[in-house]
Formats: sequence, C-alpha cells, structure tokens
Amino acid sequence: MNSSFFPQQTEGSLPSLPIRLDLSVVVPIYNEVDSIPQLLEAIQNSLQDTGLSYEIICIDDGSRDGSAEQLKEQTQTIPQLRAILLRRNYGQTPAMAAGFHYARGQVIVSLDGDLQNDPADIPRLLAKLDEGYDLVSGWREKRQDAALTRLLPSKIANWLIGKITGVKIHDYGCSLKAYRSELLADMNLYGELHRFLPALAFIEGARITEMPVGHHARRYGESKYGLGRTFRVAMDLFTVFFMKKFLTRPMHIFGYVGLLSWVVGVLLGLYLTFAKFALGESLEGRPLLILTILLLLTGIQLFSIGLLGELLMRTYHESQGRPIYRVREIAEYRSREDTTAP
Ligand code: UDP
Ligand code: MG
Repeated sequence: MNSSFFPQQTEGSLPSLPIRLDLSVVVPIYNEVDSIPQLLEAIQNSLQDTGLSYEIICIDDGSRDGSAEQLKEQTQTIPQLRAILLRRNYGQTPAMAAGFHYARGQVIVSLDGDLQNDPADIPRLLAKLDEGYDLVSGWREKRQDAALTRLLPSKIANWLIGKITGVKIHDYGCSLKAYRSELLADMNLYGELHRFLPALAFIEGARITEMPVGHHARRYGESKYGLGRTFRVAMDLFTVFFMKKFLTRPMHIFGYVGLLSWVVGVLLGLYLTFAKFALGESLEGRPLLILTILLLLTGIQLFSIGLLGELLMRTYHESQGRPIYRVREIAEYRSREDTTAP
C-alpha cells in the first residue's frame, strides 16, 4: 500500500486518518493574505458541481502578513480546508512537498495562491487526466507577467529543459498541474524541482500531457520571484538532469574542467614566452594579462568547487529521506472541538 495513505506524524499535527478522497487541491501560500478568501471561494465554486470528495490543503510557508491566521480562521467555516503551517519560509517547492505529503486525494491538483491560476480550470484538468494520463500540466498560453524579466527567461528555460530532458512541454513553470497521487508518493523534491515534475515523472514512465489554462495578472501582494530564482532553476536543471543524463560519473566533469584550465594556462604561458623572447616585450608591464590568468584560474576553480558543493547538497538531501520543511501546526475544521475538549 502507498505510504502516503498514512502520512507520518509531524510535531503539532493531528493524527491523520487514512481517509481516501477523490481530490486534494494543494496551494502554497507565502504572504497572500488578501487573495485567500477569494481563492478558497473560487476553488469551492469550481468543485461543487463535480460531486467529487475533495480537500483543500493550503500550506503557509512562513508568511509575515497574517496569511496563517487568515487560513486558520477559514478552517472554522470550510470543512474541506486543511491549513499546514510551516515554521518558517522554506520556498515554494518545499511548501508544495509538504502539501503533497499530507494530501489524501487519489488525484492531486497544485496551483498558486495568488489567483494568477484560475481554479475554474481544475475540472478541465481532471477531465484530461481521465483520458488516461498520470500528469496534466497547465500551459499559460497568455501569461500575464513581465515580458523581459519573466517571459523571456522562462521561454529559454522551457526550451532548455525540453532539450535536456527530451520532454517538450511549453510551460514547466506553470504551478497549475494535476497528478495521480502515486506519481508524487516517492518524489524527492527540493530546490526548485516542483517545476521539473513533468520531466521527472516522464523519466519514471508516467504518461504526461499539457493543456492551455487561463492566467491572470497578480491582483494582490507581489511576486516572490526574481532573477535569483531563475539562476536556481538553471542550477537544478544542470545538476539534476544534465549530470544525471549525460555524465554517468559526474565527477569526471571536474577532470575535464581541470584539464581545460591547464591547457589555457599552458597556452598563455607559451604566449608569454613568445612575447618575451621573440617580440622582446617585457612581462612586467602586463598587469591585465596576469589579471586575466588569475580570473580564469580562480574562476574555474571556484566554479568546480561550487558544482561539487551543489552535488554534495543534493546527495545530502536525497540521502536524508526526510522532508525539507518543518510543520508548526495543522489546522482543520474539526480541530476546534478537538482543542476545546476537556
Ligand atoms: N510561494 C511560497 N513560498 C515562497 C515563494 C512563493 O509558498 O517562498 C508561493 C506563493 O505564495 C504563490 C506561489 O508560491 O502562491 C507562486 O509564487 P509567486 O506568485 O510569487 O510566483 P510567480 O507567479 O510570480 O511566478
Ligand atoms: Mg504568481
């Protein structure tokens, strides 16, 4: 039996019953207090006519704007809502991983908590899944985000991910996705890996597809993503896929990089020798050249060390076998009676 039937007990959690639902909607929340009421209402509206048994799992990722309190309050009136409050801000992927861990649905849908994804699309995703897929990824065909800082990097990223993983979908970054829960049961997520789920799932033999979904400009609060995240996504892409796929023994790359730096050093040395003896130039008046060599060598060395660290970090995460987040509290509808009971 699937281990996610019986979520482990985490500090502060209520005993989770092995209830099986049709659907879990998982929403990471970081400083989205103004969006929460509309979001919950929209999710409920989109699902009320489907006849599905469902739960909404909102993960508060250490918000500082009262989102956690807002979520707890909402659990008092929305029986389907469970609020998982993390101890601090861990990032979108760990928050989603927490949601996946507690989800009891046979199907899991993830979406953003800022109303940029449209909950009204959920039934369409589910219908697509029923056609015989394990994962349906949303495609924000008309994405409402800044062109230069968001759309362009994501276009490049999607193209690259397609090239490297061989799984060509248009919009890896779209959080609105539907998954069969077995698929997520033993996925080990960290970093920015939630975006790569279609590729990771495909490698595991899952049937995946995509479908166009709506997208809205942010109404409240602000985006938590900048170019720094784009870089982290690139590092995940590089270390997780590139190294695993093309370099069975990844440490070899350091050998190549070392060799390359040695060759560059030799060439520069030869050039300097040539300049000194054939052209009669003095080497002392060439600070720029020395600087170039220094930068080259230290740059390469630091790059290798960085990669090594990156790999170590990943090995560490993968060997830990425990979640990369800590739960402070779990709030749900019946918790009021539970906590006031003598
Ligand atoms: N998010 C999170 N933890 C973080 C950053 C973001 O849980 O550290 C959530 C955020 O509240 C939102 C979703 O992840 O529900 C996507 O974030 P955002 O809207 O800032 O990303 P964008 O839409 O700009 O790509
Ligand atoms: Mg957003």
